[in-house]
Amino acid sequence: MTNRSQQLFSEAVDLFPGGVNSPVRAFNSVDVDPIYMEEGKGSKIKDVDGNEYIDYVLSWGPLIVGHAHDQVLETLQEVMKKGTSFGANVEYENKLAKLLIDRVPSIEMIRMVNSGTEATMSALRLARGYTKRSKILKFEGNYHGHGDSLLIKAGSGVATLGLPDSPGVPESIAKNTITVPYNDQESVKYAFEQYGDDIAAVIVEPVSGNMGVVPPVNDFLSFLRDVTNDNGSLLIFDEVMTGFRVGYNCAQGHFDVTPDLTCLGKVIGGGLPVGAYGGKREIMEMIAPAGDIYQAGTLSGNPLAMAAGYATLSLLTEASYDEINRKADRLVEGIEKAAEENGVPLQVNRAGSMLGFFFTNEDVINFETAKTSDLEWFAKYYKVMAEEGIFLPPSQFEGMFLSTVHTDEDIEKTIEAVNKAFKQYK
Ligand code: PMP
Repeated sequence: MTNRSQQLFSEAVDLFPGGVNSPVRAFNSVDVDPIYMEEGKGSKIKDVDGNEYIDYVLSWGPLIVGHAHDQVLETLQEVMKKGTSFGANVEYENKLAKLLIDRVPSIEMIRMVNSGTEATMSALRLARGYTKRSKILKFEGNYHGHGDSLLIKAGSGVATLGLPDSPGVPESIAKNTITVPYNDQESVKYAFEQYGDDIAAVIVEPVSGNMGVVPPVNDFLSFLRDVTNDNGSLLIFDEVMTGFRVGYNCAQGHFDVTPDLTCLGKVIGGGLPVGAYGGKREIMEMIAPAGDIYQAGTLSGNPLAMAAGYATLSLLTEASYDEINRKADRLVEGIEKAAEENGVPLQVNRAGSMLGFFFTNEDVINFETAKTSDLEWFAKYYKVMAEEGIFLPPSQFEGMFLSTVHTDEDIEKTIEAVNKAFKQYK
């Protein structure tokens, strides 16, 4: 059934570390053979063996209007005919920037980069340069790309100076990152009591999507806004995943909390490599060549990425989100019913079309509680879903996404597959 995929993967293990160019594509945590995809249209993707799936990965979030949307492809073709990159300014940079400034409450000025990782790394440099402080506060279970300052795990205790999460991250860098549990206001207060004068910024996923989906509770985001204001630190929202996914005006519009800086990626590139960071003009003007904080990029503002992002965002209206949310409501309702009927312990976390399903009886509000999910059962469930033609992120600790083009029929088929899978519980 996946012969060609297996053949390609056995070739790839000699070419790339672990056979892949990004770790989660190895499907390690679900013990499934890696699948090679060949084409996508709308909500469906097809692998190299001709198996078709309803896709809830959507390239890990970017494809909010589905695969190969006609309007996105037409725009890309038009731009591509004139060349792929000039290393000079193009009009599409302005078009996308104006749209982002218009829709994202915190962004008055923006800088385009090539990935989410670059956006967060650059935002940290800017925050440190602006505040002349060196420490960063981040949350356990939040992922902000693979930059040294952010690839940090928590030690034991409520507010820990970070430990490198990967060999190769120097301790001298890790010790400038403080890590506390998500949604834990007391730990944040404690960290500010200990290190307040030296905290340049708090960086947070306004809805966490990298420990499964974990939304903020008890006004956590407005608490962060107040505590950073009170201590002269910047608040950075990493909206690489939530941007234009959680709502028309991103998570900051949805929760009505405006950070100083915002990092974007995924949806704003419509499936091409892109990232961006933006915020208050006064801060952004410190970046070179307006100011002296250096950051640059050979392919930044690339015409294809700008055009794909612009075309994608132009397709989204406030009504698009109502429509995706309606489908997400139905999916959640169907899955909850299946869980109840089959005695499967289930917690559903949700922010718009970002969905997280945890197989536990505990409320999932942070990384500790996310880890109570039954991973063995997740792997079993994953396999049945894949066999039934439903493509889910191959890890418990990733969110599932819907697009504007998932159909009601897709949702019903998915619920049927979930029922089949849940019947195999224990
Ligand atoms: N921040 C968040 C919240 C993310 O989810 C990701 C990627 N999943 C990143 C940053 C890093 O983005 P990229 O993979 O484009 O470097």
